[in-house]
Amino acid sequence: MARYTGAVCRYCRREGEKLFLKGDRCFSEKCAFQRRSYPPGQHGQGRKKSSEYGNQLRMKQKAKRYYGVLESQFAKYFDMSARQAGMTGENLLRILESRLDNIVYRAGFAKSRKESRQLVLHRHFAVNGKTVNIPSFLVKAGDVITLRSIDSEKIKSSVEANSARPKPEWMTIEENKVTISRLPERDEIDFNVEEQLIVEYYSK
Ligand code: SF4
Repeated sequence: MARYTGAVCRYCRREGEKLFLKGDRCFSEKCAFQRRSYPPGQHGQGRKKSSEYGNQLRMKQKAKRYYGVLESQFAKYFDMSARQAGMTGENLLRILESRLDNIVYRAGFAKSRKESRQLVLHRHFAVNGKTVNIPSFLVKAGDVITLRSIDSEKIKSSVEANSARPKPEWMTIEENKVTISRLPERDEIDFNVEEQLIVEYYSK
């Protein structure tokens, strides 16, 4: 499976906000965005104006990077969301939120989505009793995600570090189990994004 392995802090600098892609580092003074909050590259400090298309493109890129999804997969999610009833933009965010790697992150078992993806790949989780090692697996309301490695020191340390982070109301989190009560409403998705711009980007 293809995956971007380059520097990710440049994404935050490019999007002009912290996307929290690196776990602990994002909360430390080493955060690249805190030190250089202007876009990366030779012309980073010179670029100012953005066109309508530019804004739409940036919003799509931001969402893609926030959830750690590559271009083709993101476009597939958009197609899926456009075929569902309701608002396409909200459907898209709901699909992204229902990825297994996102659930693991939101539940506090990992410090970043990158780390949660790795935990899923290493078979630390089961969905409805069956081990799943596909980070893009989409969960549904009623699914139960179980942590198989209850003794993992890495996961324990993440749970402790994330204990103060607000947990989503659309899931019930127990020590080694997460139950998806329902998929989230738009106002429950903690992500600063204007999804309508993404819809406009793909509607051209
Ligand atoms: Fe973004 Fe985290 Fe890097 Fe800061 S440390 S720039 S929040 S990924």
